[in-house]
Amino acid sequence: MEILTTVDEARRHVMNARFQGQTVALVPTMGALHDGHLSLVRSGQSKCGRVIATIFVNPTQFGPSEDLQSYPRMLDADLDQLRAAGVDAVFVPTAEVMYPSGFSTHIGEPDVAKPLEGEFRPGHFRGVMTVVMKFFQILPADVAIFGQKDFQQFAVIRAMVRDLDVGIDLIAAPIIRESDGLAMSSRNRYLSKDERQTSLRISRALNDAVNSIRAGEDDASTLESRLHQTLTQPIDHIAPVDSVDYAVLRDANTLEPVRKVSAQETVALIAARVGSTRLIDNAVLTF
Ligand code: AMP
Repeated sequence: MEILTTVDEARRHVMNARFQGQTVALVPTMGALHDGHLSLVRSGQSKCGRVIATIFVNPTQFGPSEDLQSYPRMLDADLDQLRAAGVDAVFVPTAEVMYPSGFSTHIGEPDVAKPLEGEFRPGHFRGVMTVVMKFFQILPADVAIFGQKDFQQFAVIRAMVRDLDVGIDLIAAPIIRESDGLAMSSRNRYLSKDERQTSLRISRALNDAVNSIRAGEDDASTLESRLHQTLTQPIDHIAPVDSVDYAVLRDANTLEPVRKVSAQETVALIAARVGSTRLIDNAVLTF
């Protein structure tokens, strides 16, 4: 596995592979890898001849009071996992490589970036879109793979690729969960044992919504109240989540509010804080 650290060598690596007739899949990550990330690698391998991962904790997508400093960094273990998974190359730039002095251009946010995460993490998607666009320029792959765990992020990148005519195919990979239902996340390692129990309320709330819909409930506000209840009301001895940023049903394409779960796709999205850890999860619903 080649480890690429400069823009020139990274671009040359991808260009060479493509000149040789190989297809290239790009898997951007912030490291602290888990099976969710590795599932994106496997998806890339099933579509393309070569898979290139990136590991970069992108400072511009963190707000001033967020966890940039404490975000888990474990490069050696990550490289071992990528090597074992058969990744061909990994781009590991420093912040100076990505944002040299004088850097000042950013991608503006599309409409789908405005609600939900856009409201609670102002500037987050501007940072995400800018770094993803830079990766698309530095590593001009055929395909880029992102997880549905970050549902809105995928919608935002899809809008950017569509609106700015970026020549790359996007693939959304399904959410990988722990056996008890918790969506895998690098941030799960922040959770204490009790918080880990509380965090299960999130996947449970989404699961309950799926079941309610199967049982015939299609009213969005009723389903949203149930999501809130599962997150915050007493269940056995499990503490409630500490706060709910949102627990909503939205149109899966536009992320605009819906009144009914319709035959078109609707998505339930939750962002909640457990202790000081902010967790997100979602489930696509069909009636
Ligand atoms: P991150 O390192 O958290 O920025 O995530 C890198 C990529 O992995 C993003 O496209 C995420 O959506 C994806 N990802 C993170 N967690 C999961 C998961 N549990 N299942 C599937 N994809 C995931």
